[in-house]
Amino acid sequence: MFFWAATAVVGFLLPFGFPLSLTVFGPYRVGGNKSMSQMDPAQNEASENSNSSKKVIKSDAEWRRILTTEQYCILRKKGTEQPYTGVYNDHFEKGLYKCAGCGQVLFSSETKYPSHCGWPAFYDVEKAERVVCRIDRSYGMIRTEVLCSRCGGHLGHVFQDGPSPTGLRYCINSAAMIFEPSPPQNPQSR
Ligand code: FE
Repeated sequence: MFFWAATAVVGFLLPFGFPLSLTVFGPYRVGGNKSMSQMDPAQNEASENSNSSKKVIKSDAEWRRILTTEQYCILRKKGTEQPYTGVYNDHFEKGLYKCAGCGQVLFSSETKYPSHCGWPAFYDVEKAERVVCRIDRSYGMIRTEVLCSRCGGHLGHVFQDGPSPTGLRYCINSAAMIFEPSPPQNPQSR
């Protein structure tokens, strides 16, 4: 009996990729030119619910099948790539950065900047509702975890030491994203 009850609970939680310790905190968002102290958790949760029809929910086996080992470890198991090793760390081409799990556009090259922290850094998200932020108390630290709002994939963390206009630094794993370059500019339109 206990086995079946435990299996049901774990089976429900694992597809979302959230550990039990994080489910006690309500999700909230950061971005949209607002500082973290200006966020309204109730308002943010309401907007997340209105976006629920777009959720991408897959089993752990499905994620293992469609993601590379590195993508799976970061997106689904909250891993972190080694600093200065990610393919987008020193990458500044024009384009969009999409979630490697579900393809949702998360960040733009317009807000990427050289933070020299070892990971790709952005001072804002493409749209506030594209990410969900949660308190992360792992490894003896209190940080703000950033997740994709569509598939729940772990992206990285956000810190309050970024440049203006937001003062935020979204510190994101390269392997959690897929870069889509901007179309070549038409020479006649220059
Ligand atoms: Fe995603």
